[in-house]
Amino acid sequence: MMPAGSIRLRLTAWYTATLFAGLAIFGVGAWIAVSISITEAVDHSLRTRVDAVKQYLNYTIESVPAKELREELKEFAMGAPEGNLLQVRDPEGKDLLSMPFSLPQGPAGFTELNWNGKTYRVLSHVQFLVDGGRYEVGAAADLEERAEILSRFRTLLALAIPSVLLIAAFGGYWMSRRALRPVDDLTAAARSIGIDNLSSRLTVPQTGDELQRLAETWNDMLHRLQRSVTRLSQFTADASHELRSPIAFIRTAAEIALRQQRTPEAYRDALRQIHDESERTSRLVEDLLVLARADAAADALQFAPVDLTDVVDQVCHQEQRQARAKDLELEVRMPPETVVIQGNDLAIRRLLRVLLDNAIKYTPAGGRIEVSLDRQQDGVELAVRDTGIGIAETDLPRVFDRFYRADKARSRDEGGCGLGLSIAQWIARCHRAEIRAESDTGHGSVFRVMWRPTSQQSSPACPAPR
Ligand code: ADP
Repeated sequence: MMPAGSIRLRLTAWYTATLFAGLAIFGVGAWIAVSISITEAVDHSLRTRVDAVKQYLNYTIESVPAKELREELKEFAMGAPEGNLLQVRDPEGKDLLSMPFSLPQGPAGFTELNWNGKTYRVLSHVQFLVDGGRYEVGAAADLEERAEILSRFRTLLALAIPSVLLIAAFGGYWMSRRALRPVDDLTAAARSIGIDNLSSRLTVPQTGDELQRLAETWNDMLHRLQRSVTRLSQFTADASHELRSPIAFIRTAAEIALRQQRTPEAYRDALRQIHDESERTSRLVEDLLVLARADAAADALQFAPVDLTDVVDQVCHQEQRQARAKDLELEVRMPPETVVIQGNDLAIRRLLRVLLDNAIKYTPAGGRIEVSLDRQQDGVELAVRDTGIGIAETDLPRVFDRFYRADKARSRDEGGCGLGLSIAQWIARCHRAEIRAESDTGHGSVFRVMWRPTSQQSSPACPAPR
């Protein structure tokens, strides 16, 4: 059963309506053309008949005495076609030949008149000189034949137009059905794809047309969806896994402490362990929340002019204590003038803190960390250099992946959970800035964030980190 909103039905209806309009215009035009050409043919024959009378008069006027002219003309008329429909008047205005009906008054020319239920085409009052005298001739033709031809033509149109329309409508419907069948197939295939079989793909018809493009676009979208869903599931699995260890640790620490009576010092020690682990867990939960909001693209980061020199100065000042505690030298190098970009102040602070925390975490005591802000020809570069353990070449491309840690045990000991650089990369992306890591294993690493002028124009939709 065809639904009311079917494209097929609408296409067929439009096609039929357009064809009907075209055929109607053609029919009326053809009818008018046929009618005009029949009338022209009748007019031509009337003119020929009048000319024949003129020639006959010219030929007979001298050889026939005036008294016999009437009889001669009657004989001529009897031999001529539609001879009874001829009128000839002599110069005195007397009828030499007369018609069954009187001709209309007026100048010489063609008219139509009805007599006795029939229509006649008339050529009247044609005057000419014969032997010095002015004769007047008129002729009429019965239009019954014209009426008959036109009526037959009308009947033909009345039968042909609906038949052509019917055939065309069926043909059109069949053709649109054939052309749109792949759409039905695509719809059925698309309907069968759900979240659990996102790896299925639609069959792409190799037709090079809109339908092929539609199927390809669908498959493209499915591919992107599948990637996002896989990433989300992986993220959820990794997040659950990461949360399980600290919670298990807290539970075990509490259980052991409660198993028997202990000294206040032992209880304090257990509580300290639980406190440290809870702190790490809440940092992990906070990072997870930031990334979950980033994935959901919940609310856009608000952009405003940010003075990078100020941000670098303040964050480095805050981190100074931590660096000193690890016996690290933290140096800041900045241009003499202020560097202002369009961005989100809080997010940029967070990004710099991630890079600095990592530099502090992965640089052994006695090392050096340098934070530099440079105005470059094509933008601004913020770099964090350290003389730490470095990152192996094989790990370098993966350090921005979620939960990726080159050295899991070391990262965990340092309180890391492998989300810092993912958040830093997301913040950089929101600012249309590029973040890159370079490293010389065993000697140190450099993390660079580069803002290009075009990257500061607008605020892309990114959730605000808290
Ligand atoms: P984490 O919380 O483990 O530090 P990140 O996402 O911040 O997570 O970093 C991912 C991994 O990249 C780290 O586990 C570490 O192995 C490596 N890494 C990051 N920064 C540095 C650095 N400055 N020096 C050496 N390794 C680093």
